[in-house]
Amino acid sequence: MRITVYDGAGSIGGSKIYIQEGDNGVFLDFGMNFAKYSRYYEEFITERTARGIYDLWHLGLIPKLNIYRKDLIPRDLDTSAYPKLPVSAVLISHAHLDHVGNIALLDENIPIVGSPTTITILKALNDTAASGGHFGMEVPYYKVRKNKDEEGYILEADRKAHYPSRKVILTEKAEQLDEFLFHSIRSTKKIIPNEVKTLGEEELGFEVRAFPVDHSIYGATAYIVEGDVDLTYTGDFRLHGKNGDETRKFIREAKNASILITEGTRVGREEHENVSEREVYENALEIVEGANGLVVADFSARNFERLESFKKIAEKTGRELVVTAKDAYFLHALKMVDGLENLRIYGNFKATLQKWETLVVWENYGDHYISPFEVRANQENYILCFSFYDMPHLLDVMPNGGVYIYSSSEAFGEEQEFSFLRLWNWLQYFGFEVHGFKVDKSGKPIFEKGLHASGHTSREELMRIIDEVDPDYVIPVHTENPMWFKDKWGEKAVILENGESWEV
Ligand SMILES: [Zn+2]
Repeated sequence: MRITVYDGAGSIGGSKIYIQEGDNGVFLDFGMNFAKYSRYYEEFITERTARGIYDLWHLGLIPKLNIYRKDLIPRDLDTSAYPKLPVSAVLISHAHLDHVGNIALLDENIPIVGSPTTITILKALNDTAASGGHFGMEVPYYKVRKNKDEEGYILEADRKAHYPSRKVILTEKAEQLDEFLFHSIRSTKKIIPNEVKTLGEEELGFEVRAFPVDHSIYGATAYIVEGDVDLTYTGDFRLHGKNGDETRKFIREAKNASILITEGTRVGREEHENVSEREVYENALEIVEGANGLVVADFSARNFERLESFKKIAEKTGRELVVTAKDAYFLHALKMVDGLENLRIYGNFKATLQKWETLVVWENYGDHYISPFEVRANQENYILCFSFYDMPHLLDVMPNGGVYIYSSSEAFGEEQEFSFLRLWNWLQYFGFEVHGFKVDKSGKPIFEKGLHASGHTSREELMRIIDEVDPDYVIPVHTENPMWFKDKWGEKAVILENGESWEV
């Protein structure tokens, strides 16, 4: 077995791990490396989609391999001299962009493996993505590009073509998923159905077993891949959420693994305590119980576990939880809430609604909508799920004091620190009592513990997990501190740089 970490070796995110035995190969994740992207790009300067993969290729943001979609390769880019790896599938750990964001670029005949929840989230992300954005969202269906003219330097979406879909292999059976996967809510174009299979029905060249694990997005999966040797991949995982027991089950299954590829997001962090989802719930509940006026809960999109916590808090405190239409679309797709029971949907003042909203959310849950003026009139009755990006819409509600609960991760880097200063300015403007962070005199955010639980195992837990699994070799990925593993496990730790291979 030959293991190559093409990306994500020494950074948090961008994981692209390749396993090969003879003519068989699979990728474990194929994510977007935000750290590398941000060397060149920011919000208003991104890759030019009209040039396909040209920009990403030259900037070194995707590995130089001959494995990409032909319709994304303009005439002045020749990938044919680069390694054409055999890839029978990409095994997806979870639906965060740093793990899946470059899959859409891969050859269209490469199937994706994922849990039904992960595949559903990806499809819904694609449905709700702003048109004209980057390629990251085009999974499992995608827009075919064609040459704009004979010259072939400029690629444009083929307006006449329906959307082809990638083949999907589910980690477990799911009834009626096909119906959602191949239902188009964009324009009049259809999604051309492809096969949907289950692990075991498909020959991947390896025996692949999937295990649900706990993470900050539902559907997260760890894999055990068996070839000449067996390899275990954790994806992103933790023990301190609602599904912690799933992680424990997986750890027992992984015992005595030959090779353990694990994330190490938090190994470099000095932390005194590990905040659990349960504690976040309790701390936030206490704040809401004492709150007057509107409560705004700011947590990361697609963190449905956190959303459920705030829904419970709303029920306990006699309030209603108001979510965005996008949240409602995802909850509907995941069939998570029975008819979105007890949830309200914020009716934004928008000039045009996208089809996913009119055809699905409005159509099914029209009576759940609440207008900004209704929220304004009875502010103490609601918990509003808003974040920085929604601040302009609060001008329609005009909160009168109230409480803002920041329940998301800390800032990384200067750019994000600036965003917190702007968020702070909004919150001061509305007169909120802010929990979760504050901004000091120099304009830097300071975060308070207790209102956010990380998606990743703490350093101490990871140490115990690796001890319990007791693998022959451990390969760290998704970490800025790979050497921590060398210090702890010496010879057992195999540290690979991006692009480096190791054979066992
Ligand atoms: Zn993640």
